[in-house]
Amino acid sequence: MLNVIICGAPGSGKGTQSDFIVKKYQLTHLSTGDILRKETASGSKFGKLIDSYTSKGELVPDELMVNILAKQIDSLPAGSKGVILDGFPRTVAQAEALEKMLAERGQKTSILVDLQVGKEELIDRLLKRGQTSGRSDDNLETITKRLEVYEEKTKPVSAYYQKLDKYTPVNGIGTLEEIFDRIDIAIKACR
Ligand code: AMP
Repeated sequence: MLNVIICGAPGSGKGTQSDFIVKKYQLTHLSTGDILRKETASGSKFGKLIDSYTSKGELVPDELMVNILAKQIDSLPAGSKGVILDGFPRTVAQAEALEKMLAERGQKTSILVDLQVGKEELIDRLLKRGQTSGRSDDNLETITKRLEVYEEKTKPVSAYYQKLDKYTPVNGIGTLEEIFDRIDIAIKACR
């Protein structure tokens, strides 16, 4: 199985590039942000709890996230070719839990692709996205918080995967096709 983690700051293009990867490699796309937004939109009590974190740009607690992801992994269709994890892991604790979870199922992460985009460009992209996304977290105050959280909590995940020799930084500036070509080369090299 091919298990790809796509990592990068908010606005780095993880979701967009995931769609290209899914198309080419027929992987199952697990976007934790999408899963959380669906739960919030359902209006459930759990959704309200999630919203109390996401609307402020804070991370949902690790324990909740790990449970959500384990359920998703356990409901993958038989014969699945693998997954693309978009937005998970976002902390070192989540990375450790993920690797344990995969190992218990005879799996491992194949590669972590880290999309690299400068801060000004990220803010620009997210503010533009906010004009049409309808996302409560695409406003300047929350974007600033999300970028801080990314630096503090998610950046260390790179070092964790560097140690496992799975880490590949990819330039996230260029046309969508150029960026995908870079990712594709990295995925081919890890197989
Ligand atoms: P995203 O769509 O990936 O930008 O995620 C939107 C928001 O959902 C984030 O700002 C977090 O509040 C929350 N979120 C998504 N994935 C995770 C995760 N793995 N751990 C904690 N919070 C998450």
